[in-house]
Amino acid sequence: MFLWGSSEGHRKISLVAWDNVCKPKKYGGLNVKRRKLWNLASVGKLLWQIVNKKDVLWAKWVNEIYMKADEDIWSHEPSQDSSWYWRRLNALKDMMSTWYDRGVYRLTSNGQYSVSSSYNALLGNMNIMREADLIWNCIMLPRQRMISWLAYQNKLLTKERLQRMHIQVENTVCCLCDDGVDETDQHLFAECKWINEARTVLATWMGIDIPQKARNWKVYRQTIVNNGGIVTQIQRELKERVLLALFLEGSRKTRCS
Ligand SMILES: [Zn+2]
Repeated sequence: MFLWGSSEGHRKISLVAWDNVCKPKKYGGLNVKRRKLWNLASVGKLLWQIVNKKDVLWAKWVNEIYMKADEDIWSHEPSQDSSWYWRRLNALKDMMSTWYDRGVYRLTSNGQYSVSSSYNALLGNMNIMREADLIWNCIMLPRQRMISWLAYQNKLLTKERLQRMHIQVENTVCCLCDDGVDETDQHLFAECKWINEARTVLATWMGIDIPQKARNWKVYRQTIVNNGGIVTQIQRELKERVLLALFLEGSRKTRCS
């Protein structure tokens, strides 16, 4: 794997803590599932069926075989001779009881069981990553998503960071501008003069009027973008390049013949 996964003779730097990688994308992770917790959340559905779906055949069966008529699952104590599965489910129910309020599943608005809601509850308190929709959208290419994600975590392998990790680099200076400042995430994504000029040139080329000091996403959102104009501009540029390529190819053939 790109972030983890050292192999024999090849030690890979772990850029982001595994706990963070396992968070859902909107909480700043990569949505890699923690198998044990996901299994637990999936098993939780069985408990929910016992509580709510008394007409489901297997729920009906355990209610009749294992529990007394006036007993519910929360107060039930499994006997030692009951099946291993039944005892395991009962051993886990205390942890799952926090998902219920007076017998009603409270993690979804309609009370229907959701494995992912239970799984998120097991992951504990997480902060929403405000920039998540800037990274995980259909415009970004996979590589761009990963670079942006690492940048938001302040984990890009910039020269300054490499040096801090005691990895030898020739110098730590930004190679894009000539300001002689350290190549850090903050510099590359916000302060670098070269990057900002490139951004302005790109915006001008596409006819987008980005407000001054629009470093705030809310301000960016208000920017009016003429999609049709941008498409026309790209088509025009493409046409020019194709025509130029055809012309050069034609003149090369004329010269050679
Ligand atoms: Zn720079």
